[in-house]
Amino acid sequence: MSGAAATRYDVAVIGAGMAGMAAALFAAERGLSCVQVGSGGGILFASGLLDLLAVHPVAEHRLWQSPYDALATLAGEQPGHPLARVDPTSIRAAFQSFVAALTSAGLAYAPLGERNSNLLTSIGTVKTSFGVPMTMAAGVDALERRLPCLLVDFRGLREFSARQIAATLADDWPDLRHQRIDFPGFEAVPEVYAVHLARALETRATRERTIALIKPLLGDARVVGLPALLGLARSQEVHAAFEAGLGVPVFEIPTMPTSVSGLRLLGALESVVSSRGVRRRQLSSVRALTFEGDTALLQLDGAPGGERISARAVVLATGRFSGHGLTADRQSVRESILGLPVQQPGGRDAWHQDDFLDPAGHAINRAGLRTDEVWRPLDATGKPAWKSLFAIGSILADQDWMRAKCGSGLAIATAWAAIEQVAQPLRETQAP
Ligand SMILES: Cc1cc2nc3c(=O)[nH]c(=O)nc-3n(C[C@H](O)[C@H](O)[C@H](O)COP(=O)(O)OP(=O)(O)OC[C@H]3O[C@@H](n4cnc5c(N)ncnc54)[C@H](O)[C@@H]3O)c2cc1C
Repeated sequence: MSGAAATRYDVAVIGAGMAGMAAALFAAERGLSCVQVGSGGGILFASGLLDLLAVHPVAEHRLWQSPYDALATLAGEQPGHPLARVDPTSIRAAFQSFVAALTSAGLAYAPLGERNSNLLTSIGTVKTSFGVPMTMAAGVDALERRLPCLLVDFRGLREFSARQIAATLADDWPDLRHQRIDFPGFEAVPEVYAVHLARALETRATRERTIALIKPLLGDARVVGLPALLGLARSQEVHAAFEAGLGVPVFEIPTMPTSVSGLRLLGALESVVSSRGVRRRQLSSVRALTFEGDTALLQLDGAPGGERISARAVVLATGRFSGHGLTADRQSVRESILGLPVQQPGGRDAWHQDDFLDPAGHAINRAGLRTDEVWRPLDATGKPAWKSLFAIGSILADQDWMRAKCGSGLAIATAWAAIEQVAQPLRETQAP
């Protein structure tokens, strides 16, 4: 690479999905100068619920109420799984830190305990997750105790049907009622969108008119469920106003992706990493990455003239296929930036099971990078490819985060562990 001098950082994070965001946040919290390259990743499609580990073994679809018991079993049975390689104390610390940061950015989470919670989904199934936004928390108790509950939805909102949820659960939750109302100001509109309604509810007058429409429908309901559209950036304020106005606990249910709750999570993470001093290049991508000794040089696309960055360490958080961290052709899978060796099935025939819905999942969904014990991806000889290159999140091999319901857990835990490694030498050089 040639041209203008590169701007120098302690760490460059490639990727702005959950793993990249967590790494950038943890790096900034440790006082490392950090640049982050990439756009929102899968966060936009997420529900706002932070899964740690809910299912193990995947093939048996065994559901765990204690994620830490699940992790202990995983460590015994599948020690190569990336989550099994992070000690539980670090996982607890990582989640506490991540959730505290989100709370500071206006997206509060219920206090983290030792257990998973069960929550309603927009199709009336139950999702088991770990980190629960405060606006959804009352739904956990309502579901567990099958409290008399009123579900409300809005005419024209295609992505959420209170009637469908109540119908799915009719035998199991007899005190679950549903009602449909017109959203104030949108009565004549045939189709409405959650994000527009969420913004509208940030206006006090609209909020009060909506509450006034719901209140006469309460009957014996001891809790009210609504689609997750109680505000966009100001969800805590809107949620509190609904609880005060209705006089009962209120909970949100995430809608289908792209959801308001995913947008909130993305917005809060973007705001918190920026406020901690991370330099963000969200319109850019890394075109080339080279190493000179222990220094990494990144060439960016998307910036005028192609910005150059140098860093003491690089964290690769580029995801799998949807994130573009891995690329597949008809024969094989490769890592997209450096061509690192990818752990993958022997041939394309082995990528998928015959049955698409096979509970064991597909081998291709466990493809990815193998690393040494300190999260450095391996080269073809099985040695760390570069001393200062680390890999985290869903690009890692030997895990199927979607089926194990461990997406955020994998991202947050491995980001914490890798940033510990990145910070270590710096602490040593700064020691008196
Ligand atoms: C539909 C859906 C629903 C989900 N729901 C949940 C949920 O309820 N709970 C939960 O815990 N998790 C959920 N997740 C998972 C979670 O949000 C993360 O997607 C997952 O953990 C993977 O994160 P990641 O950061 O490893 O990868 P990704 O999210 O794929 O991010 C990869 C990043 O790398 C960047 N990138 C790639 N190549 C380059 C390059 N050359 N230069 C710069 N940047 C690059 C991309 O722009 C992107 O920012 C959901 C995900 C999806 C898709």
